[in-house]
Amino acid sequence: MDFNKIKEMGLEYAEKGRNAAMDLAERGRTQAKIVSEQTKLARAQRQLGALVYSLAKGNEENQPLVDKYIEMIGSIEADLNALKESLGPAAEVITHDLDEEPAEDSGITIEPTVEKDKKPDTDKKTCPQCGAPVSEDALFCNRCGAQL
Ligand SMILES: [Zn+2]
Repeated sequence: MDFNKIKEMGLEYAEKGRNAAMDLAERGRTQAKIVSEQTKLARAQRQLGALVYSLAKGNEENQPLVDKYIEMIGSIEADLNALKESLGPAAEVITHDLDEEPAEDSGITIEPTVEKDKKPDTDKKTCPQCGAPVSEDALFCNRCGAQL
């Protein structure tokens, strides 16, 4: 028996174990980022949907603002893909059902048809550029297009 060899192998395995643990921590961070990007993506998509809906309803157009959302969504999607790729093809990404998210962002701009012009006097978020009221999780100001 070559004890030195066994000792060497033991060290090697210990080293491998340490690397695996580091990889796990790194993967955990990446997966957390993926989940947060997915939440961001879902939010941006909802905001875009609400925007398009309210524009269509009011028979208005705001292509530059729509484009900003589309650009934002595209860049989040690219980030997401990069993160997923960094986990490797066999990676099991923890996804949560985005449709079952709690309705924490009910301040969305889809308004009921009645009392449309009556704005509730809650302390709403306003645009730092133009002061227009903006929905809690809007990414851009609906009036001036400033990034929020
Ligand atoms: Zn504004």
